Amino acid sequence: VIMPQGSAQGRANQLATLAGLEFELFTSEEIGALLQDLNGVYGDYDSDEASIVRVLWREWEQMRRLPPDLTSRIQEAGSVGRQAWVRARETNDFALFKPHLEKMIDLQVELAEAIGSASGNRYDALLHNFEPGLTFAYIDSVFRELKPELIALTRAVAERADAVDDSVLKRHYPEVDQLRFGEEIAAALGYDFQRGRLDLSPTAFTSAFHKDDVRITTRINADNVLVALGGIIHEAGHGIHRQSLSPSLYRSGIDGTGLAIAETLSRYYENVIGLSYEFWTYFFPRAQAYFPHLADTDLITWYRAFNKAQPSLIRTDADEVTYGLHIMIRFELENELINGRMRVDELPAAWNARMETYLGIVPPTDREGVLQDTHWSQGGFGYFPDYLLGTIFASQLDEQISAQQPDIKEDWTRGDFAGTTGALVERIMQHGGKYTFGELIRRNTGEDLSAEPYLRHLKTKYGAIYEF
Ligand SMILES: [Zn+2]
Repeated sequence: VIMPQGSAQGRANQLATLAGLEFELFTSEEIGALLQDLNGVYGDYDSDEASIVRVLWREWEQMRRLPPDLTSRIQEAGSVGRQAWVRARETNDFALFKPHLEKMIDLQVELAEAIGSASGNRYDALLHNFEPGLTFAYIDSVFRELKPELIALTRAVAERADAVDDSVLKRHYPEVDQLRFGEEIAAALGYDFQRGRLDLSPTAFTSAFHKDDVRITTRINADNVLVALGGIIHEAGHGIHRQSLSPSLYRSGIDGTGLAIAETLSRYYENVIGLSYEFWTYFFPRAQAYFPHLADTDLITWYRAFNKAQPSLIRTDADEVTYGLHIMIRFELENELINGRMRVDELPAAWNARMETYLGIVPPTDREGVLQDTHWSQGGFGYFPDYLLGTIFASQLDEQISAQQPDIKEDWTRGDFAGTTGALVERIMQHGGKYTFGELIRRNTGEDLSAEPYLRHLKTKYGAIYEF
């Protein structure tokens, strides 16, 4: 982001060398023998030592199954594929991308077969790559319950589209003021600028070099304030997560987590906190201080605008109600592609058919349809479901935390998020990669992943906003 443009190739070479050395050292016989010796030495499942051995053994075993050159072949195909995808999207020409996608799917099948899966579903191996322990069956059982309800909610808000006017968000908001306001929000939520920074980039992301150097980025649209504020709050959630690792796990090898756990935190901040009335009770007057033209607007108008829901074509622009359906389309198509039940040339039509069934709209072009995301071009198969799994778990957590600390949302109206961030650190963030997604859900709720709290949240909130 702040590296000179001409430096990219040199940095890429350095990273490739380091990644190769890391793979070679980590997958050595010696590390395997050491881990095996330590297996079972530390009795307490929750101890740092037992967790480090358990998690690293799991990773060692998996990485040993990969053909040594497969990762670099995927990286190479991904960098060529990404360029083809950029051109295909620019010119709205799926045919340009098709051979690259076919090649990438072949490589992903090779990867999945090398890793293997207990169920026989190849897709499970890819899901496991992004969040250990996830399977198609596990995710499908929750998505299946959610899908008809989300379709019904999407219809309900679409029929009442005029009920919410979000034009206030689309006024002119100077970029500098958006950044400063975003910084104030991120700091209030608990993101530590002594150990982090906020920069601009074409898409928002978080980079954690270590727990005391965690950087976030956002994009800014001067004519739509939702883009940067939503992005900053989401990435601040990732940032707080990475800054809150227990010092005892620092440089332990299990400092990071899978994506579903990471998305639970970012979506908690973005949706549960950042879209709430309590949050804006405190921050709307602050917004008025940064953007004087908001003097003519009131809190309720602002809150409703921020929560406008409607079927839309682009996943990254989707709201809380419709977002899940965008994910389900990708999840279902990935499963079919990886298992050889769908050909790449059938993909654009299948995409559009599902958009029509789930969201009631059809992309007029592939650019606004199957070509919109970069993930597949770089081999990110099995990545998408984690966004929605995190969103679902965030609602479960919200119900748990609210039941145990009933005053916590009252704090939000005063701009005080210490209790909430403290609860999330205690429950999830401090643990790094100790526990799987499923383990964290059971430890925190005593139950498995459930779509019910998320549905209750959507029905209550959007029922009130849209009066159904
Ligand atoms: Zn994220």
